[in-house]
Amino acid sequence: MRVKEITAWQVLIPLKKPIQHASHTRTETDNLVVRVVLDDGTEGFGEGVPREYVTGETIDSALALLKRSQLPEQMEECTSFKSTLALAERLRLADIPGDERGCQGNSARCAVELALLDAFGKHHRHPLSDVTKLLAHDDLFEPKAHVRYSGAITSSEGRKIRIAAWKMWVYNFKQLKVKVGISGQDDVDRLGAVRWRVGKRMDIRIDANEAWTPANVRAKILELKPFGITAVEQPLPHADAAVLREVRKDVGVPIMHDESLCSMIDAERAVGGETCDLFNLRLSKCGGFIATLRLAQFAQRHGLRYQLGCQVGETAILSAAGRHFAASVKDIRYLEGSYDNHLVKEALATTNLTFGWGGWAPALEGPGLGITIDPKALARVAIRKEVLLG
Ligand SMILES: [Mg+2]
Repeated sequence: MRVKEITAWQVLIPLKKPIQHASHTRTETDNLVVRVVLDDGTEGFGEGVPREYVTGETIDSALALLKRSQLPEQMEECTSFKSTLALAERLRLADIPGDERGCQGNSARCAVELALLDAFGKHHRHPLSDVTKLLAHDDLFEPKAHVRYSGAITSSEGRKIRIAAWKMWVYNFKQLKVKVGISGQDDVDRLGAVRWRVGKRMDIRIDANEAWTPANVRAKILELKPFGITAVEQPLPHADAAVLREVRKDVGVPIMHDESLCSMIDAERAVGGETCDLFNLRLSKCGGFIATLRLAQFAQRHGLRYQLGCQVGETAILSAAGRHFAASVKDIRYLEGSYDNHLVKEALATTNLTFGWGGWAPALEGPGLGITIDPKALARVAIRKEVLLG
């Protein structure tokens, strides 16, 4: 079986409310959707969310990269799902000058990889979670019937953060991420208000999105430590990551790399430099399901933990892929994603993947991604189309 068509769309997904963090505010999101069609007509979909401040990609650079990556030549015949995995892992996008971290095509790569895995998964009757079973059976594979997502509080303050925290408690989340470092906000006040409302058993972690500096990072973490935070995500800009080797020891709170962890090159540097305790793995940022699985294996081998994170504005395609990852990979320290109904106005699928009470959601049955894309929904949000093959 071969791939006969590859199509990419730029889709503009409106968000239900503006999302603000220390480095950005957005009201809509430009996502990349890729569709692969096999010889027998089987369709598969993939998605990537290019973010300039994470992997240096924009929607324009991602589409341009796909156009010059000679994808048709790479689409060899696949006779089994295993041979699809080899094809997907070999997938190489064109070289990007100056991309010394090896990440500037990751969201584009993720979109193509997921579309291939979805199409061939459907054809060979393998759910996406079988990728973990086949590639990481002995070290990472652990099938689960249900997974539990974490809640998140972004930019609220004052009365709004008290209501948001109360909602998290009522909803019975077990884990909660709070964004900090937003200018003009008092994080001690905010964390205090949250902790008081969610109770002492809630696992709270914070994400500073590169807001702090080598000069103030220790003080910033230490003033929030009394609220019982279990991790600090990306306290410093990536360029200052080396400082975290000492900061980790000084503050005694686990540090998680997010913007600083986009590729295997980043992972090797983080381990070599002892700059973090956890990786925030996100499928789009890390270049797809298999690349993310390899990063989880690398973390595990080096005694680090990992979170499966998500991108604000993911549609059901990335939500489904994340669900398969979470339901098949063991020891995920924190889980984010499937915010669909809470965040995006158009999730593209006929299946609603939003988590339920307590953050719980079931593993997805069915081959490939296990969801059906609504072509009318795709047509409503698509603003540009590129035919890459066919
Ligand atoms: Mg983050």
